[in-house]
This record gives sequence, structure tokens and C-alpha cells, in this order.
Amino acid sequence: MSDKTVLHIALKVPFAPFLDYLLPEGCEQPQVGCRVLVKLGARTPAVGVVLAVSSDSVHKQLKPIDSVLDASPLLSANILSLLRKAASYYHAPLGEVVHMALPKWFRQVKNQEVPKQYWWKTVVDWETAETQTQRSEHQQSVFKYLQQNQPLTSKEITHICTNASHQLKQLEKKGLVTSSELCFLDGESLRTPDFTLTEDQTAAINSINHSQGFRSFLLDGITGSGKTEIYIRLVQKHIEQGEQVLVLVPEIGLTPQLFNEISERITGRMAVLHSGLSDGARARVWQQANLGQVDVVVATRSGIFTPFKQLGMIVVDEEHDLSYKQQDGIRYSARDLALLRSQLSDVPVILGSATPSMESLALAMKGQHQWLKLRTRTNRKPLPQTVVQNTTQLTLKNGLTHDTLDHIKRHLSLGQQVLVFLNRRGWSPKWLCQDCGWIAKCDDCDAYLTYHKHTNRLTCHHCERRYTTPEFCPDCGSQETDVLGVGTERIEAGLTQSLKDETILRFDRDTIKSAKDWQTNLDVVRRGEPCVIVGTQMLAKGHDFPKLSLVVVVNVDNSFYSTDFRATEHLAQLLIQVSGRAGRADTRGEVIIQTQNPSHEFFGLLLKKGYQTFAQEQLQEREAMAFPPYSHMAIIHAQHRDELELMQQLQPAIVIQDSHPDVSVLGPLPAPIQRKQKMHRMQIIINANSRKALHLYLFAVRKQLPSQLRWIVDVDPILLDS
Ligand code: ADP
Ligand code: ZN
Ligand code: ZN
Repeated sequence: MSDKTVLHIALKVPFAPFLDYLLPEGCEQPQVGCRVLVKLGARTPAVGVVLAVSSDSVHKQLKPIDSVLDASPLLSANILSLLRKAASYYHAPLGEVVHMALPKWFRQVKNQEVPKQYWWKTVVDWETAETQTQRSEHQQSVFKYLQQNQPLTSKEITHICTNASHQLKQLEKKGLVTSSELCFLDGESLRTPDFTLTEDQTAAINSINHSQGFRSFLLDGITGSGKTEIYIRLVQKHIEQGEQVLVLVPEIGLTPQLFNEISERITGRMAVLHSGLSDGARARVWQQANLGQVDVVVATRSGIFTPFKQLGMIVVDEEHDLSYKQQDGIRYSARDLALLRSQLSDVPVILGSATPSMESLALAMKGQHQWLKLRTRTNRKPLPQTVVQNTTQLTLKNGLTHDTLDHIKRHLSLGQQVLVFLNRRGWSPKWLCQDCGWIAKCDDCDAYLTYHKHTNRLTCHHCERRYTTPEFCPDCGSQETDVLGVGTERIEAGLTQSLKDETILRFDRDTIKSAKDWQTNLDVVRRGEPCVIVGTQMLAKGHDFPKLSLVVVVNVDNSFYSTDFRATEHLAQLLIQVSGRAGRADTRGEVIIQTQNPSHEFFGLLLKKGYQTFAQEQLQEREAMAFPPYSHMAIIHAQHRDELELMQQLQPAIVIQDSHPDVSVLGPLPAPIQRKQKMHRMQIIINANSRKALHLYLFAVRKQLPSQLRWIVDVDPILLDS
């Protein structure tokens, strides 16, 4: 009989789910879920997590662990089973999944105590603060930034103002801000709503409250139907029962908004978790949630791995949002893991959206999600009026039609604000020769170069490599070069020219480089004076601009030519989302969509019949084609410097399909961007009738593909053309 203690340890290695180590004599046995320090290879120290304890190992000559880092488990048995399931579902090494789940602080070998964090919040409104900070511009900008993004630690304000902590202390002395070790101070004055719930809201809340244990709900409610109000009431109920709630929100600055809406209304300790926080702050929130010291955590994607002492419910707001899917490394979906996690914890999960994903709708139709519909707007304001404008016969001046320009002028003259939305930065997406048709491409990628006028450079948006603008065509020598198409830079220039005295603000990655830029531009918009905002994706979500009454959407046509079968679904969701920006003003909002395909059935369906009908037709099409959500898909992405070599190394994946009749395997196909940073890229698309068949095939592929090949697998991919 052996009397040794063997620890199975999850380490960040691709070749095994765990490695075995010995517990040295005299060392107290760590519990499962605790971190330990070990040596990987001969010397390299590494942090690992104990997955199991055993008295035996298939390996001989085990090394001892160096030390135990946690006295009590950082990862509960529940989270560990979530990670195990995620690893097998996404075909990723368990050790890597465990490491991905841990905040960076806990992955570091240098183990220090997690420092206390002090969170700042404002306690007065801007008008009060303004009169008391008249002589300090720094204090004013710190206050404003805090007000719109609170709660924040002083570290997260340093990019607005380098001596932020000094300014905060000054503001605190004046009684304008306060700090605490918790993100939210319990017992602050609560706002009580002055309305009664709508019938839809009451019915939804009752259904959720009457369920027991695990149950998934699709809260399908148009913008302004009061979904947030439902979350708030449910959160309060769970807190009263002594339970914790996880609220997931999409990326891009929406965390403070929902956080503040909830915090104004509940008596509970709240925390935020998002990528903008320092490592220490993230680690501290983890600890607090794990110990039951916070009641509600509002988090972005990776927050799905937060450990809770007593989880009572998960909410996924805007469940259709693409940012829930991690697009690099281990490609998990936080929404799907939320379903898994609530099942493991036996608690309800609520997926909320005004434009639910086809996946969630299909599950609701099958009865797997309970489908809760909210069809009335609480304020009874009409939705904005949408016009589809045919641009084929019209001359465009820097991207906009005359008619559009007239509309913009009219809204401005009424004192309103306008948003021009397009998802393309730069001046022009193409630089071409007028004589022979040559178009400038990147040397390292299979992609056209975008012209940026401000820098007078051509830039590759895939690798960011820059080129000087050619004086003549390299193919025919002609000097007649020109640009083709419009980006935000050109729209802005065109508007500046046509609207001389009006304020034009551009929000894209070229003009918004820091939180301070964002703040400065946002301040102008919030002041409410007439202006035109030109912006990309950055602006599509969340932000409330009460004076915005016209939204112009430019360049939607790419979606109609996309090879991605989800392109129109994503376009529909985007259009409804940006249109929603125009819905808050006193006057009825207007939306203009400029397109070369005005008679495309997409518009008829979405705009005349609405998202529900659009979605039904989408689902029927998908079913007829046997595409997700009626099939199970995965993509293998591989890259290599040499194209032929890449083809050859991928062959085994094609060969084995004969023994997997229930999957269809397409490829190797060139990726939509065939070459990126000098690497050739190929894909294999796998579509299967059943989840099981897909997994069996992927297991087989893992064994067959040569170990030197650089490849990853994306299970349930949501972006096919990236
Ligand atoms: P959603 O999240 O569905 O877009 P919200 O929950 O943000 O909608 O609600 C929109 C607005 O309506 C908010 O200002 C909210 O306070 C208010 N509201 C919510 N429920 C009601 C109700 N039953 N009656 C009146 N106003 C309500
Ligand atoms: Zn030429
Ligand atoms: Zn490039």
C-alpha cells in the first residue's frame, strides 16, 4: 500500500489536462480548488490549481509541489465542474481553461495578498459640483468622469488626470465624492419608482418567481419595455433571500449604466468586473464574491467564471450581443456557459434582449427556455420612423445623399442632434488606378488598404501596417489615382464642408484614443446642443442621448453579399439597436437607411413586419438549409507560412470524414482573409446533425492533425467571415 499523496494539478500546458505532483511530507494537504506553486520542467515556477487528490499516479518519479497558496479553495467544486465541461465542449486543454478563468492576479507566481481597493463614487450632482470646483479644471474632469463611469478606483481615473488620487481627496474634502471598500455603499438613499408594473412585467416576474431550481427564461422585450425593471425586482428578491446574483452585460462601457440603475434601487452590496479594472481590483472582487461579501456582481464576459458563495440567479442582458463570444484563445460563449452554470448551480437564468439570437429563439420555441414576451413600451412613445433610401440613382456627396443632408439640416434647425452611423473608419476603403483598375493591397495580408487623409497614408486594417500613398500606379504607371468608397473621416469632412457652422463630432478608433477623448466628446453631446455625431460600432450601444432625433445608417450593403449566413441576423440586430438611439427625444425619432438594395426582402420583413417575423423567416431558412441553430457547427482555423504545406497538413481532417457520416466537412477553404501578417490561413467548416457527432469528429481530428500545425477550433462560431 502506498502512503503518498498525489495531487492532480491544472497547469497552463497544452499537452495534458493536468500533471501529477507529490505532497511533500510535513506540508498540509491543500483542498481541491486551491492554488499551489510547482516547478514546470526543471526550474520554471508555475501556479496550478488542485483538481483532485489521490494516492496513486500512472507516472513514476513525481516532483513535489513547492508550496500551497490558498488556505481555502479559490475555485469551488461547482466552478471546477463548469470548467471541466467547458474544456470538453470547446475542445480545449483543461489546464488552459482553468488558467483563462483565473484573474491575472491569481495566475502570477509572485503571490501577494490582494490589496484592499477603494472605490469612489459621487455624492452630489454635476451642478452642485461645478459651483464648488470652479477654479480647478482637473477636479471638474475627474468628477465628471467618475460620475459617468462610477464606481472606479483611483487607478482607473489616472488616464483622465495623472494625479487623480490627489484630486479625489480634494473633492472628498468638499463633500462631493466618497470612497469605500465596497463598490456600493449600503443604505444610501434609494429611489422608489413612481409607476406600477405593466401586465407583461408582472406576468414575467411571476413566472420566474414560481419556478424552482434551474430554469432558463428568454425575456424577449422591445426596447423600453421595462426589462431592466424586471431584473431589479428579481435581484432584490434574491438578496432578501440571502443569495447572490451575477448580471452579465456586453463589453463597451455599459457596465456603469446598468450598475447604477440597479444600485439606485436595491439594498445590497454591489461590485463591477470588467476589462478596464486593474488586476488587483478584479482579484479583490473575486475574493469578495467568493466569501459572500458582495450580493450582486455586474460583469462582462469573463465574469461568468466569478466564484460565488451562494449564487441565486444569473442574468444575461442583451444576450444576442457578439461580445459574449470570446474571439481569440479559447473561444467560449459566456451566454452558453451561463446556461451551463445555472444548471450546475440549480438556479434560474434570464436571457434578456430586444432582438434575441436565433439560437435562443429556437430553444424558446422548443420550450427549452420559457419564453416571456414584453410587447408594450412603458412610456408608450412610438418607435422611430424608418425610411429606406435608394442610393442607386442618386449622387452621393462624400457618402451622403442630398435628401439625407436636408434631413440632417432640418433636425439641427429644430435644435436636435443627429447620428451618422457607419462601421468603417478612415477616408476611403480603397485606393485605385483610374486607368487600369489596380487597387492597393497590403503586402502581408489579403486585404485592401484604407486611405487615411489625416496622415496621408494607406493603412491595412488587419495588421495596421502603413504605406505611403503611391504617386503612380505600380501596374501601368498612370498618375490618375483615386479613392473609392467612404469611411467616417470622409463623412466628417463632407459634413464640415456642407454644414459650415455646426458642430461635427467623430467617434472612432482614430479620434477616440483614450478615455479622456471619449469623455470630451461625450460632454459636448450631453450638453444637448445641436450637433452631428459620426461614429462606428462604438456608438451603437447603450449610451443615451436624449436630444438625438435622427439616425442615418450608411453602408449596410456588405451584409447582403457576405458569405456568413448570420450576416442579416447581425444587421437586423444592429439596425434595431442604432435606431433605438433616436427613440428618446421628445419629437418622434427618424431613421434613414441609405442602401443600394432598397427592394431587398430583408427591409420589407424587418421594417414592415418587425423583428419577430424577420426572425421566424430566418429560422425557417436555417432549418431548410440545416444550419445552426438546427445543426451544430465548428470551424478549424489553421495557418502556415506555406500554402501547400498548410493544405497538406490539414488533409487528415478531410480523410477521416468517411468514418463520420453524420458530419459534413467543407474544406480546406481559404479563410475570408486568406493571408494575414504573411501567414496563409485556411478553414475547415464542420456541420453536424448532432452535438455528439460533432464532438466525435473533433476528437478524432485532434488525434490526426500533425502536432506542429498551428490550428484552433471554434465550436459554435458566430462570425464566419473573420
Ligand atoms: P428596457 O430595459 O426593456 O429597454 P427599461 O427597463 O430601461 O427598458 O425601461 C425603460 C424606462 O421605463 C425606464 O426609465 C424605466 O424606469 C421605466 N419603466 C419601467 N417599467 C415601467 C412601468 N411599469 N411603468 C412606467 N415606466 C416604467
Ligand atoms: Zn494602373
Ligand atoms: Zn496587412
